[in-house]
Amino acid sequence: MNGALFLLTVNFLIAQLFCVFFLVISRRSRIPSAGRWFAAAFAVASLSAVFEVAIRYGDFDRLASFGAFTAVLTALLMIRVGIGRLYSVPANIWTITALLAAALPLNLMIFDLPRSTFAHSFGYQTPFAIAELLCALAIYRSGRREIADRLLMTLFLVTAANFAGKVYFAVKFGSGGTAQSYLGSTYALVSQSLSAVLVVSTGLTLLAVIVVEIMDDAKANSEIDPLSGLFNRRGFDARVSQILSRPLSAYPHCVIVCDLDHFKVVNDTYGHAAGDQVILAFGRMIAGHAPPDAICARFGGEEFAIFLPSTGETTGYLFAQGLRNSFSSLTIAGLPDTVRLSASFGVCALAAPGDKISDTIKGADAALYDAKKSGRNRVNRAGQTIPAKPDGWQAQA
Ligand code: GH3
Ligand code: MG
Ligand code: MG
Repeated sequence: MNGALFLLTVNFLIAQLFCVFFLVISRRSRIPSAGRWFAAAFAVASLSAVFEVAIRYGDFDRLASFGAFTAVLTALLMIRVGIGRLYSVPANIWTITALLAAALPLNLMIFDLPRSTFAHSFGYQTPFAIAELLCALAIYRSGRREIADRLLMTLFLVTAANFAGKVYFAVKFGSGGTAQSYLGSTYALVSQSLSAVLVVSTGLTLLAVIVVEIMDDAKANSEIDPLSGLFNRRGFDARVSQILSRPLSAYPHCVIVCDLDHFKVVNDTYGHAAGDQVILAFGRMIAGHAPPDAICARFGGEEFAIFLPSTGETTGYLFAQGLRNSFSSLTIAGLPDTVRLSASFGVCALAAPGDKISDTIKGADAALYDAKKSGRNRVNRAGQTIPAKPDGWQAQA
């Protein structure tokens, strides 16, 4: 087995392995179709090695050479489709069709030209370079600039340059007189080695992009409460720490905690599913009213918290009053139209960098407790005690 043939075998096996990797990993991805397109692309690309071996040992040069070319070009365009799925920049079907419609007949036409001529090399390599550029352009247009995205875009550009460079090097160093003798040439050895390095690098980077996407998703999901769609306690703590660690964090900040009134009765009267609808409605109402930089969370059960950055306690109090008013007039899906519910709120400010967020939440909790004691359906500020009032079930029909 000579060097070029050995490399073709290695390329074939590597492409097959990537196919399996992409199939396995795409099952975990939010966009499984992207990984499947990449898997299919690597499977198709591996066929080019089979065609190239057929050129060497078979007696159907023209067909095998055309097959190898078609396999590589189709694989590159399939990668473009996969990139489109992954980066939400759909591939243009007309561009792909036009490239195939121009490149495939051109490949048949140049077959009889001497392989070391500019016309042959140019006709053979240019479609590949264009396909690589389309992939790089799609990532550029997506606007995503994480390290893996930049690396992938660079690799597509380098590979495009590699294909363009082959036009020059095939002419300068000679790529064998015929398709058969090409495989025995030094040019083929260098060309195949370089291609193998680029294919492996591109495949690994594509895998990395999908893995990063899966990890980001898993992290985001672990910080989101599935019922309300708001942050859970972990997500709340993480976002608040980010704000507090900013060097120019403008104090004071304000924390509001709230708890639905007599929620057990809602569950007991209308059922747990209706109770879930109430939690959902309350979560939506908070998210709909809160300013864009607020951090809204469901701490558990029917307890919620809102962090209002750069907001004083008085503004927080007025905001909570607005929420209380809106909720007490809200009709809720799953409950009779005439039923109105209420919630109680505690408000506490984080006044200076030395203040701990845990103490502020405790302060807001204490204020909420007082609001419950003093009759519910009210907003209470930390340190402000309201005289206790007798209370009963307040859902009003
Ligand atoms: P209070 O006015 O004092 O807050 O009275 P309450 O009945 O609301 O009392 P509490 O806050 O202790 O009640 C919490 C109830 O919320 C108990 C539990 O059955 C219910 N709960 C907790 N999580 C969920 C949930 O995810 N869905 C539903 N439907 N109910 C939940
Ligand atoms: Mg409650
Ligand atoms: Mg509660």
